[in-house]
Amino acid sequence: MKTVSFVSRVICILVIFTLFVSIDGNRAEAAYTYQEKVNVDILNVRANAGTGYAIIGKLKKDQVVTVHANRQGWSKIAFGQGYGWVSSQYLTNVTRTGYVNATTLNVRSAPSTTARILTQVGTGTAVTVQGKDGSWMRVYIPSKRITGWVHGDYISNKAATSTASQPSTWTGYVTATTLNVRSAPSTTARILTQIGSGTAVTVQGKDGSWMKVYIPSKKVTGWVHSDYISDKSSASAQVVLLHNTNLRRGPGTSYGIISVEPAGTSLTKIGQSNDWIQVRRKDGVTGWVAGWLVGSAQSSPLKGKTVVLDPGHGGIDGGASGRLYVEKRLNLSTALKLGSLLQQAGAKVIYTRSSDIYVSLNQRVAISNQSNADAFISIHYNSCTGVCSGIETFYYSMSKDSVLARSIQNNLIKSTQLRDRGTKYGAYRIIRNNQRPAALVELGFLTNPTEERLIGSISHQKKAAQGIYNGLVEYLK
Ligand SMILES: [Zn+2]
Repeated sequence: MKTVSFVSRVICILVIFTLFVSIDGNRAEAAYTYQEKVNVDILNVRANAGTGYAIIGKLKKDQVVTVHANRQGWSKIAFGQGYGWVSSQYLTNVTRTGYVNATTLNVRSAPSTTARILTQVGTGTAVTVQGKDGSWMRVYIPSKRITGWVHGDYISNKAATSTASQPSTWTGYVTATTLNVRSAPSTTARILTQIGSGTAVTVQGKDGSWMKVYIPSKKVTGWVHSDYISDKSSASAQVVLLHNTNLRRGPGTSYGIISVEPAGTSLTKIGQSNDWIQVRRKDGVTGWVAGWLVGSAQSSPLKGKTVVLDPGHGGIDGGASGRLYVEKRLNLSTALKLGSLLQQAGAKVIYTRSSDIYVSLNQRVAISNQSNADAFISIHYNSCTGVCSGIETFYYSMSKDSVLARSIQNNLIKSTQLRDRGTKYGAYRIIRNNQRPAALVELGFLTNPTEERLIGSISHQKKAAQGIYNGLVEYLK
């Protein structure tokens, strides 16, 4: 009895030990994310790790990507809403310098408070941040030649001494339409630059009624009259997201993601740090977005417009089918691309379906009629029994729908270069019972094998989406 019990205890301990080793081993391998930069002119992004997999996108030289895993010379990167794979040889590691802001900081062998302490570093120590795992950062400490893990809360972007010497800086906002930034606190001093209403500035000091400011967006320091600087951002400092964008806890991709905000979202700009913009959401939550992903609210050509997008068929109703593709899938994929373009331009987009579900024609019409939309677009791919090719757009009402249909058809042909079958009268229920300006597009024939291969491609769907978008902009302006 005693022997058995001892053996089982040993086995038990061995099993637990093995589990710990494997968990620790996995983490050390690839469980953290890090930033890398593209080092070739054009880099293919593929669906999986190998040149045999489909190309799902391309990256340009110097684009920065977040790497999540590695497999046999391939890197798994965050791409679009999901992941893609690129050949690792075309990526170069991107690092940044951080500074320890704790009195004593433990550097550990793994991203966990239970991991072994390799060394300790003091306030102000410069470290090279190589990657992160949750709230942990993987750092190289040049002064000790050690690589390890530290908690991200204790690493700052700026050296502690520089922040300590300017304790009273604050963010101000320009209230004048155009404000001169001068080389000295006087109206006779040289004008260095001009900044517009809502521009965020870092106020560094005061001299009488003048303020010394740093303008992050221009990387210029100068003097402005304090009457035109407010500590509150005005409504004019609204930014609009051009893409689905990560809202982060700090000004950089190494900071944690609070949420993913959809393209077209309007946010209040409350600050700026280099290329990053500090924003406040309507619910009061604040965070940071990359400056290159936002536009100003004024530059949105479809601001205030509402468009209903109706990807035809769905769920049990597949629609037409060819040898390779089922219509319902192409309809949805094209509609989502179009919707994203419209949102980027400031439009409100309502989908009758945004996933592979069945929605009846009456429900689709009801969504449109309740929406008070400026336009309704039903998206389809075509079929016929003979040999057919090209694109056509249907309208029901000559007075309500035909101008919209004409504008979309013209722009579709310009964008896709497919055969022009023209605009046609069609008594389809989805447009016949529709009270909003409505059109039904047929974006090519699935029953034509040559055309099917083309229209199944992402590039055709992008061109089709762009064509409809251009048609809508022309029609709605
Ligand atoms: Zn259809």
